[in-house]
Amino acid sequence: MAFRAFVTVATLLSFSASAEINRLKLGAHLGANSVTFRVYSSGATRVEVDLFAAAAAVNEVARIPLDRDAATSVWSATVPLSQLGIRGTIYYGYRAWGPNWTFDPAWTKGSGRGFVSDVDSAGNRFNPNKLLLDPYAREISHDPATKDNRDGSVYASGPDHRLLDTGNVAPKGIVLQDSTTPVEARPTTPPQEEIVYEVQLRGLTNSDSSIPATARGTYRGAALKAGYLKSLGITAVEFLPLQETQNDTNDADPRSANYWGYATLNYFAPDRRFSSDKSPGGPTRELRKMVAAFHAAGLKVFVDVVYNHTGEGYAYHSDDKNTYNLISFRGLDNPTYYLLTSDHQSSFDNSGVGGDYNTANPVAQDLIVDSLDYWHATLGIDGFRFDLAPVLGNTCTEGCFHYDKLAPATALNRLAREFPGVPLIAEPWAIGDGTFQLGNFPAGWWEWNGSFRDKVRQSQNKLGVETVTTGELATRFAGSADLFQANGRKPWHSVNFMVAHDGFTLADLYHFNSKNNNQPFPKGPSDGGNDNNESWDQSGSHPDQIKAARNGLALLMLSAGTPMMTGGDEFLRSLNGNNNSYNLDTPFNWLNFTLTAEQRAFQGYARALIAFRRAHAALWPADFYSAEQLHWLKPDGGAADGAYFDNADNHAIAWTIDGGPFHDPAGMLYLAYNAWSGPVDFTLPSAGAGKLWTRVLDTSIGMSSKTITGAVYTLPGRAVLVLTKK
Ligand code: CA
Repeated sequence: MAFRAFVTVATLLSFSASAEINRLKLGAHLGANSVTFRVYSSGATRVEVDLFAAAAAVNEVARIPLDRDAATSVWSATVPLSQLGIRGTIYYGYRAWGPNWTFDPAWTKGSGRGFVSDVDSAGNRFNPNKLLLDPYAREISHDPATKDNRDGSVYASGPDHRLLDTGNVAPKGIVLQDSTTPVEARPTTPPQEEIVYEVQLRGLTNSDSSIPATARGTYRGAALKAGYLKSLGITAVEFLPLQETQNDTNDADPRSANYWGYATLNYFAPDRRFSSDKSPGGPTRELRKMVAAFHAAGLKVFVDVVYNHTGEGYAYHSDDKNTYNLISFRGLDNPTYYLLTSDHQSSFDNSGVGGDYNTANPVAQDLIVDSLDYWHATLGIDGFRFDLAPVLGNTCTEGCFHYDKLAPATALNRLAREFPGVPLIAEPWAIGDGTFQLGNFPAGWWEWNGSFRDKVRQSQNKLGVETVTTGELATRFAGSADLFQANGRKPWHSVNFMVAHDGFTLADLYHFNSKNNNQPFPKGPSDGGNDNNESWDQSGSHPDQIKAARNGLALLMLSAGTPMMTGGDEFLRSLNGNNNSYNLDTPFNWLNFTLTAEQRAFQGYARALIAFRRAHAALWPADFYSAEQLHWLKPDGGAADGAYFDNADNHAIAWTIDGGPFHDPAGMLYLAYNAWSGPVDFTLPSAGAGKLWTRVLDTSIGMSSKTITGAVYTLPGRAVLVLTKK
């Protein structure tokens, strides 16, 4: 989900397998004696590169016109270092002219010479007064708004702003050496075994007193948590966006901050604010070292990426076609990088958070592929989660949205082809019409399973209010074959979750009947947030709230599919009912590892539960369970049939999984879920001659080992039971 700051606002790919990666060699590339600048613009009539010796508050050292290659629309110049007059770091940005602002040799910074219109009939939005960030820059000097320049409107076009020159304040690309170091060996966790831990990088350590103060909130600090995360049992950490976003003003205004980061300024550059080393090249080196530290611990690193819209933002006013920010993509090639309305006068918005990125355009699509390849092959990232991903399945290049999972040319299918074996995880919905696509992604794609979340929540929190059949629950627990099996996908393509960053925490899900977002700073206020959370305070019973959290985590970890948990849920992190804390960069929103005894106990439970899952391969099948492997049972021990599954008055279901086919240390697993408010007697299958069931988990108690001698187990209301048989 996204955020709008001040109207919100690469690369030698030497390790890439595909010849299609960055075939135009875009970006700034440092040679032995020169720098070559290459940038794409289909509509420009002139492009110049400005070179700077410092990031801001200085004029350019040189301005050099680029030559256009007619065949590719790539503008380029190779500049000898000896002619640059810059001994240290080289900062750069582009100025571009086109049909709507023609080149006039008499133009000077801040003048209107050559101006025709802010936008023309083709959608061009050239304005030479706006210094433009290279979309292929591998680091950027700073964000558009800084504590010294809080006014983002300097970047705008339109009658009030078009003559403001941004050269002194604009973010600049930084010329970096190309990496020549291959990524170390990556963890080889098979996909069906993954357990994902979603967390905001800064929040992971910024309040953690065990981390050196200078490393808190940074890549270096996060690397120091690898041991903790490994001990928790997860296999992959999934960071909220790390690509550059507007957050340089967060410290100055933490109550209206861009904390989550779902508005990307540049798709190659690691966010400088997250680096303890803020020197040029520092973020890249520090991120790389962090990834290596996670890899050394056996953990994969996934990153949340936002290719449905950009941090360049949307129209300042809905009825104003002239006033848009020109920071990068829009000033270089608006019709290429953005989906426009059919008259080309406005951005088309189907993501709900800003003008859609033009994912169907081949050049805009190249940028997605090239930047992901850089993060994967050069920075070492192992997998990606795509925000509002149906936008990447759009086949329409102008004035409309049409999702087609089969069309080979969509970004979705191209990514599946270009990144085989790399987890590509979709948030399978957006806000606009036609964007709810849960279960409808192409082969190869993983999806956040909102149906798992909703149905399990309803069974826990909405008894008598929402209808949830045991048949529906069984489908979710077994990997949601109804959503994923048809195009050859596997249970692990279902990313199951109870909560995610943009909603209640696990603890709050069972503590609040509705969102509580209007709390005073620093706990709020936070606008937006879902009104329908399927939450319940368990009638105010604190023990029941804890038990419900045990149930939620248990059902997540006992289900087929890839479990995803959110950072802090292992110790009952609460945001006091705030379900949309995107704007709070405050200690309240950072993980607090100073735990109460109750939190420590839950952390121990979570760790034991995850260890149980990891130890029992029958719980993470590589393929959907066969009828021989999994048997659904009624509480009386009989087979659950269609009549039982479909009767909404039934609230208890049990199942056995044969451990043999999975080489599971347990010969058989018996699991039972009692969603009813009162106790239910479960008649157990015979353990067989000379054998006994062993209780592993009863969530009314916790992880609790006991030999079961009776034929009936009375499971208290709202509880989960797990037995094993050797
Ligand atoms: Ca930033």
